[in-house]
Amino acid sequence: MIKLPWLQGQIKQWQELVILQQVPHAILLNSAKGFGKFELAKEMSHIALCENLGEDGPCGFCSACELFKVGNHPDFTLISAEKNTIKVEQIRKLSKDIRLSATKGQYRVVVIENAEQMNKAAANALLKTLEEPPNKVVLILTTSELGRLLPTIKSRCIKINISAPSQRESLVWLGSLTNKSEADIITSLALANNSPLIAKSFIQEDILPHIKQMLADLQSLISDQKTVLEVSKAWFSEELFVHLSLLASYFINLVKLNNQLVCTNLPQYLNFQIDLSQTSDSDNKTLEFVRNIYRFNFRSETALKKELLIEELLINWKSEFK
Ligand SMILES: [Zn+2]
Repeated sequence: MIKLPWLQGQIKQWQELVILQQVPHAILLNSAKGFGKFELAKEMSHIALCENLGEDGPCGFCSACELFKVGNHPDFTLISAEKNTIKVEQIRKLSKDIRLSATKGQYRVVVIENAEQMNKAAANALLKTLEEPPNKVVLILTTSELGRLLPTIKSRCIKINISAPSQRESLVWLGSLTNKSEADIITSLALANNSPLIAKSFIQEDILPHIKQMLADLQSLISDQKTVLEVSKAWFSEELFVHLSLLASYFINLVKLNNQLVCTNLPQYLNFQIDLSQTSDSDNKTLEFVRNIYRFNFRSETALKKELLIEELLINWKSEFK
């Protein structure tokens, strides 16, 4: 399991509760996407299940640890959405299962991932379980959309908010996983809205070169080194919407930086010369480009329509900045 340094404080506290046998029966982990709440839920489960828990955490050798590591612990249940919905049948089955005592004599632990995806019937069924929790059962709910959960569910859980690690902390952690330059890591983090886990996936999938190339292409349009047709052909791909969203994110970060809304030192190492220091006019043009990316609905159109939309996007860009 990956070790996320910014969660270690919470992990330590949980460990103490387990050792003191003061574990609450329902916990709600809340944070934006990509801050590690699912990893935290898994680690908390592991701690609650280990038969030999010590100061340094789960022992790693007992049969519970072995079973947990291979994803086969009989007292651990993970509930996730099927087609974006957690259904009432899943919760009903769960409510029945947790009435049985734990096979290994420790806790029964249930993680409900993205609990906001429970439909109404599922949420009501869970509420019944939360009202009369069986002994030695721990329910860990995670969410990144707190507002979508029933207030009655929220009020029956101990809520833990996971805040974003500092940029320095994220940089050190990401730096230990990759040999990419710090400039690339900072950019990946900015594109990921400061979520270290999302930034990590960008780095692993080597997405940054695409975004840099797109920025270079936009530059080439302004300097007439490439035509709209050439660029739109190059941009058309399966990943178009993802790449465009990240391009939009880069520009939003640049505008924020220009208006001193963020203090991150986003590298401007790209061969890209929009004069953001001069005018708010430049900001408006940039934001218009960003708006078009979302307005044009690249996600759901047909291939032919997508090609036309890219061309329109690029023509607008060129006419704004040239
Ligand atoms: Zn163990």
